[in-house]
This record gives sequence, C-alpha cells and structure tokens, in this order.
Amino acid sequence: MSNARLREDICRYGRSLFERGLTPGSSGNISVRLDDGGWLVTPTNASLGFLDPARLSHLDAGGRHVSGDKPTKEIPLHSALYETRGAARAIVHLHSTNAVALSMLPEIDPRAALPPMTPYCLMRAGQIALLPYYRPGDPAVADAIRGLAGKYASVLLSNHGPVVASDTLEAAVFATEELEEGAKLYLMLRNLNPRYLTPAQVKDLVREFNLDLPIVDDHGHPHDPDD
Ligand SMILES: [Zn+2]
Repeated sequence: MSNARLREDICRYGRSLFERGLTPGSSGNISVRLDDGGWLVTPTNASLGFLDPARLSHLDAGGRHVSGDKPTKEIPLHSALYETRGAARAIVHLHSTNAVALSMLPEIDPRAALPPMTPYCLMRAGQIALLPYYRPGDPAVADAIRGLAGKYASVLLSNHGPVVASDTLEAAVFATEELEEGAKLYLMLRNLNPRYLTPAQVKDLVREFNLDLPIVDDHGHPHDPDD
C-alpha cells in the first residue's frame, strides 16, 4: 500500500473513531509501520477527528523524526508493542469510555481483562492484558509492555485506555472497537450473573478460527499457562 494511501487511511479511521465518541478531545493516537521500517504516527495534541494527511509525523526506522508535526508523546508505548509483536503493522490507542472504566474495576484479571462474552470480541481483540497506571508518555510503560513478551495484541492501560496492535490498520481499528464493546457489555452485565461463553464454546472458536488464545480454565476464563 502506498504511503499516500496509508496517510489517507489514518485520517479516515481517526475521524470515524472520533465522530463516534470513541476518543475525546485530542486524545488517542494511531501509528502504521512502513515497508522500510519507518512509521507514520499521529502528531502530539492532534484530535483524531481533524487530522491532516500532510502533517502526520514520519519517523524513520530508528525512530528519528523525518517530517511532519511533532509525534505523539506516547511513542514509547507504540515502539515497545511493535518490538514485541513482530508481525504488527498498525497500532490504535484510544481513551474510549467503557474500556477506561473497565480498567479501574477492582476485580479485573490482569491477564484476562474481559471474560469470554462474545465470539467477535475474542476473534478480533483476543485476550486482553491489563497494565498498571503510568503517566502518559512515561517511558516506563515500554518495560511493562516488554514484560508481556509479545503474547498480547490488546493491552489496557489502567485509568487511561486500550492500545491494540494488528497486521493492518483496519484490523487494529476493528479490534479496538470490539474491545470497547466488550467493556460496555461487561459494565452492563456486571453483578447480573450473566452466562459467559463456556470453555467448550471458547475452545471451539479457538479451533475453528485458529485463535491465538491461551488455555481456558474450567470457569471459562482464558489463563496463560506460563503465569
Ligand atoms: Zn493515551
């Protein structure tokens, strides 16, 4: 895909996410990795609703600023996720309300932030890791991402928002939307004793769609055998 097309796509998806209220003000950021190892990244303090293709930040493979506006301060987050998810070509980070709310609940499992509720949440967002709170732009978040060892494409930052990597920008956007919908469902159903997907139903999805999910325990929660 040409860089001009990628620039247009970043702005189009950014506007769509913003207009649906999925990230307010100038929050959220998007990056795409280029064929030469460089990246296109949304600028710092830019609203995803009003991006200009010509002003996106262009970084080279070493992370040096080549052209465009100054990049988002959340570069360490993107950089660490690309480093640990070798096949990732795009990352979407939002401050979406339901996912942020989910990140603050006391009962959340840091290695499975959502229980298995719907097939599409599992198929698109996969298993979601919850990381502790870091100040936006704090380079320490990169070490926390590296600590996940590339096992999670979807990560939720406490009191902050989701960050999702995928092999295309479209897939990263769709996965972030499914994560947000999953968080919304969880909040709606919390304390109502809902029926989640059973371990057999999750195993069937894993088998049928070749999902990269860890072992599912007898309560239907995915659990990483290494933890
Ligand atoms: Zn953020």
